[in-house]
Amino acid sequence: MSDRPRLTTTAGAPVPSNQYSLTAGARGPILLEDYQLMEKIAHHNRERIPERIVHAKGWGAYGELHITEDLSRYTIAKALQKGKVTPMLARFSTVAGELGAADHERDVRGFSLKFYTEEGNWDLVGNNTPVFFIRDPMKFADFIHTQKRHPKTNLRSATAMWDWWSLSPESLHQVTILMSDRGLPIDPMHMNGYGSHTYSLWNDRGERYWVKFHFKTQQGHKFFTNEEGEALIGKTREGYQEALFGGIERGEFPRWTVQLQIMPELEADKCPFDPFDLTKVWPHSMYPCIDVGYFELNRNAENYFAEIEQAAFSPSNKVPGVGYSPDRVLQGRLFAYADAHRYRLGTHYEALPVNAPKCPVHNYVKDGAMNFFGGITSGNPDAYYEPNSVAGSPAEVPTVAEPPLRITGDASRYNHREGNDDYSQPRALFNLFDAGQKARLFSNIAAAMGGVPGEIVERQLAHFKLAHPDYEAGVRAALEKQHGYKVDTVSAQPAAAE
Ligand code: NDP
Repeated sequence: MSDRPRLTTTAGAPVPSNQYSLTAGARGPILLEDYQLMEKIAHHNRERIPERIVHAKGWGAYGELHITEDLSRYTIAKALQKGKVTPMLARFSTVAGELGAADHERDVRGFSLKFYTEEGNWDLVGNNTPVFFIRDPMKFADFIHTQKRHPKTNLRSATAMWDWWSLSPESLHQVTILMSDRGLPIDPMHMNGYGSHTYSLWNDRGERYWVKFHFKTQQGHKFFTNEEGEALIGKTREGYQEALFGGIERGEFPRWTVQLQIMPELEADKCPFDPFDLTKVWPHSMYPCIDVGYFELNRNAENYFAEIEQAAFSPSNKVPGVGYSPDRVLQGRLFAYADAHRYRLGTHYEALPVNAPKCPVHNYVKDGAMNFFGGITSGNPDAYYEPNSVAGSPAEVPTVAEPPLRITGDASRYNHREGNDDYSQPRALFNLFDAGQKARLFSNIAAAMGGVPGEIVERQLAHFKLAHPDYEAGVRAALEKQHGYKVDTVSAQPAAAE
């Protein structure tokens, strides 16, 4: 026993007993002065932090990003230069389920990457799908409410989901992917990731390129059917953690090929579709995917809570040579993600070890709860404001300013529906599916529509029909087979416009 370190309170004092409370005599009540007991109870009460409103259940690991191609004509970003290797963290997640949700549920998967570059942290916070349900952040909170629990029943509501989707036709593309085979990957290694948003790169001549990031699994796509997923959940609710953590422990390191689609800045004006619309992909035939490197995950976290639960990704984290775009949902997320972390983790969440940049940090933020990293980070106690004349104090870096953004657009500031085609790209995807994929799509949708009122079902079927008549017919037949559904002619409504 003597070679064991001394058990102490969090203040460092040795603890005489960790098995028995301190009582007033053998049968007496516990004394308030038993601080070890008080501290144990108090800490236990505080072991949880607010879970993420979305993407609560997650799995993560460390690795490296390798850039193998010359991208200097597109960007000055040091992490994107040929031969560069950058340490990184990845976190995968489901969207709707809470922290204890089963891993093998049909849902979009979060695909978040943090690159610890020499110029600061660069985060790409995407999904395993190239598009999303909305094109405007104004709709995000309402959409998520439909995915979470009903306020009275505290159950998830298929009626709310399909009511909202059927009234928001821009969701059709993502709904189709979600209900297809790719909506239930077997584990994080067997799915692609996408930056989803349009971002930008800019070079040393001040030229901007719009860019889409793709991360193609080198393990191949593998999925479960609904039935396989349900059977698995009966055996384990933690299949993703077991597969990712266990695989890395065994030395099986998954890889993803990194690809870019690149559009010169001014081409965006001539594009036949809105390249900043998150419900749309850039067709490969117009903007081919270019291989630029790969990333590998090869190290597990030592402490899940500290390094994965407290990992804070935000698309606002960018580095010189990388920029945002007018993608409205991206613009909303630039605020939302950092704000969520300030609420969930605290003011100084970026200073937590897993989030802290691996490069020097100098700024003038001051004080605040849990300033555990040494106060002013300017490096000089006299330099706690700016501008100042203190020698050696941190100064702004005008050379990393982005090229000016050319703003174009029309007079209509709010209505982004007009002229938007919500059906062609879901149709293109539907046409890619073989007969088996289509049958599973129909069956998955019908299963998810169980109990939904006919009026809502008909409104959604009208959207499927606008994408492809076979899409509507297939879902209608599956509804009849699974639920005995017949067309509700009384309450059927035409597809709703915004
Ligand atoms: P392409 O035929 O050139 O591209 C098809 C792409 O679709 C494939 O490269 C693959 O993307 C993806 N795909 C193939 N099978 C499936 C499937 N079962 N479920 C989901 N995605 C699949 O045509 P387009 O580029 O014109 O795209 C056609 C449709 O493909 C789009 O409307 C979109 O729904 C979907 N898609 C397109 C992507 C893009 O960036 N253009 C990306 C992903 C899907 P991947 O190589 O990424 O696996």
